[in-house]
Amino acid sequence: MLRVVVLGAAAGGGVPQWNCGCPICRTARTEHPELRSTQASIAISAGGDHWFLINASPDLRQQLIETPQLHPRADQLRHSPIAGVILTNGEIDAVAGLLSMREGWPFTIYAHAKVLAILKTNSIFNVLNEKNVRRQAIEEDQTFEPMLPDGSPCGIEILPFAVAGKSAWYLEGKAHPGGDIGEGDTLGLRIGDKSGKYFYFLAACAGVTDDLKARLDGAPLIFFDGTVWRDDELIAAGLSNKTGQGMGHIAMSGDGGAIESLAGLDIGRKMFLHINNSNPALLRNSAERKLAERAGWQIPADGTEITL
Ligand SMILES: [Zn+2]
Repeated sequence: MLRVVVLGAAAGGGVPQWNCGCPICRTARTEHPELRSTQASIAISAGGDHWFLINASPDLRQQLIETPQLHPRADQLRHSPIAGVILTNGEIDAVAGLLSMREGWPFTIYAHAKVLAILKTNSIFNVLNEKNVRRQAIEEDQTFEPMLPDGSPCGIEILPFAVAGKSAWYLEGKAHPGGDIGEGDTLGLRIGDKSGKYFYFLAACAGVTDDLKARLDGAPLIFFDGTVWRDDELIAAGLSNKTGQGMGHIAMSGDGGAIESLAGLDIGRKMFLHINNSNPALLRNSAERKLAERAGWQIPADGTEITL
């Protein structure tokens, strides 16, 4: 059995974003609190006793409070069912939550050497004492099995692979602490258990290649980058001068967008994740939401649990 909990479905800033007065953020603060969403992360478990986070969002503390599956055991003074965190990139919305896990519980961070280099060169992450919080490098196209606290394998096999993307925006125009080796900035994950259940996680993806289509075809479930509805959405709304592509994210709609690119593949459940608060598909009655749903896509609420 493979259990997945969506801890958060929103992109950087969440919904509503602290300094945003766009129509979606405004309505999420007022008449439609059900639109509120924390920044993207999921938790996975093979049996339910031990869990692994995929990315640690800045909203992690709130997510842990609201997720009973991740609460400490009632009979222990100090405990967490979280055995590790797997990082798929070095963006703030993927790593900042690590700083909310600094109270001495042992766990392991799994990340590409490039992302580990970002943690290493930012001394604030030294608050996670490496004696307690191991850091283990993962490689593209090399399956690994995260460990339980007693060192035994957890029963979940994870295959990281390269997808089109960008370095973290705060590194734009700067030397990457992990060197310019042309890989490792954006990973997709195939996550499976020993019984053959599996799904894909791609919270960031700048484009769909034939190789990616071949991977995703036949998958029972995918979580896929849903940052923007259209590439120039932030510019059109007057919120930013960045396009989706400029941030390393594919659009949901349009030629070469996620909906079109993945149409026709045999995928059981298609869920958008990492959805920006500017994206009109968040609004349940919007034309964009209807188009996405008609194409078989869902936008999960925070806390949604799926068992494979
Ligand atoms: Zn907004």
